[in-house]
Amino acid sequence: MKTEQTIEPFINEQQIAEILSSASAKDASSVRAILAKAKELHGLEPEEIAVLTSISDPELLGELFETAKSVKETIYGRRLVLFAPLYISNLCSNECLYCAFRARNKEVKRRALTQEEIRREVEILVNQGHKRILLVAGESYPKEGFSYILKAIETIYSVKTPTGEIRRVNVNIAPLTTDEFRQLKAARIGTYQLFQETYHRQTYQKVHQGGKKTDYNWRVTAMDRAMEAGIDDVGIGVLFGLFDWRFEILALMQHIHHLEERFGVGPHTISVPRLEPAAGSDMSIHPPQPVSDIDFRKIVAILRLAVPYTGIIMSTRETPNMRRETFALGVSQISAGSRTNPGGYAEGKEVLEEAQFSLGDHRPLDEVIFDITRLGYIPSFCTGCYRLGRTGQDFMDLAKPGLIKQHCDPNALSTFLEYLLDYASPQTKEAGLALIDQALGQMEPLTRRRTEAMLRKVRSGQHDVYC
Ligand code: SAM
Ligand code: SF4
Repeated sequence: MKTEQTIEPFINEQQIAEILSSASAKDASSVRAILAKAKELHGLEPEEIAVLTSISDPELLGELFETAKSVKETIYGRRLVLFAPLYISNLCSNECLYCAFRARNKEVKRRALTQEEIRREVEILVNQGHKRILLVAGESYPKEGFSYILKAIETIYSVKTPTGEIRRVNVNIAPLTTDEFRQLKAARIGTYQLFQETYHRQTYQKVHQGGKKTDYNWRVTAMDRAMEAGIDDVGIGVLFGLFDWRFEILALMQHIHHLEERFGVGPHTISVPRLEPAAGSDMSIHPPQPVSDIDFRKIVAILRLAVPYTGIIMSTRETPNMRRETFALGVSQISAGSRTNPGGYAEGKEVLEEAQFSLGDHRPLDEVIFDITRLGYIPSFCTGCYRLGRTGQDFMDLAKPGLIKQHCDPNALSTFLEYLLDYASPQTKEAGLALIDQALGQMEPLTRRRTEAMLRKVRSGQHDVYC
């Protein structure tokens, strides 16, 4: 097995700089040729992606957004998968200048939830209707060390209420050794998620001023170790606002290309967090290279075209409006009703002195579901692929010829109906049931019959119906 010392560096800054400088000021017909190619759903080359980053003409920008919308619609239909983050600890030994959890920040009250407190948080999320959790923690564990995380995952999966349970736990924690990744896999995680923050080495060194996270190579090779350990679904990301977003997009592509070459499959998801104000962090209030709202939409649209089959995750860092706009441009998974302070669900409020950053969308899950239902999106709590072993390459083999829809569409409707019957407010239930009828009416006959059979089971009281 290759160790991180023997993995050839795969982020080539010089090459990115050259591609970006030769891409600027392309004429409208070259841009349109790239958009036409993107519609074929095979992704784009770095040089083509770079051209799209340079679009400023409003008409071409409109065409970029329209193309992204059509690709999103073709591959994902109207589905949006929902999850909730669960912050179990804000202990951290690193000094990331943008984050409230950084070790030297005295403005934050430190807290690592006990297993009992984790159980309580999960019960609250299950009773809201959640089925997927993203476990999040700082890079320092209570005295039992890494087994704290493993126990937390076990606790989450053990919570059962009369109507629900968490069916998929994804994790966003610091990079691990290959052996620790094996233990994480054995604990039945879904996706292992980790953001490089910035792929630009000099900026990386500037913004990480202490602790293990100062080691760029250890972080950038984390997905190699995760995949060597058998974790098929990994999620990568960039913290936008630290460096030039055009550079970061091309670096993300180099990371993806590296994973595809080594493991035959790229990441399952890409996250696009933008820097938000965090207690005790000047950098979070004055980002070194802020990303404007229009550029943020461009980022989502370009990623949708560049890697059409990779999920894009949008968190509650963004406002309801920005979230709505980016759903159309390519987002496939969203968090809702989030708290970023450990214990935040039981406390019922955001406690800024314990939180990682401030949120842009404060609405509870039911309100978000009502909103997206009204917009015609189908909320999905599906966890079918991961539980039937359709992960990594197997998932992509079904996704690329368009076959995955035969599973995703029925599963979205059955899990949405489960939510509506068990947890929804009357207005959400009414809007949701109408949307399910409408969606059934648009299905081709065979899928419709299968879906109707699944919905009948859910109506008769059966839970967790998936194909
Ligand atoms: N501690 C682990 C790490 O750093 O990878 C995992 C959890 S960390 C809490 C999750 C992510 O939050 C980080 O990777 C970073 O991208 C993001 N983050 C940190 N500070 C932020 C801020 N001020 N605004 C938005 N996102 C932030
Ligand atoms: Fe710690 Fe992660 Fe925050 Fe850095 S981003 S201070 S590692 S919690």
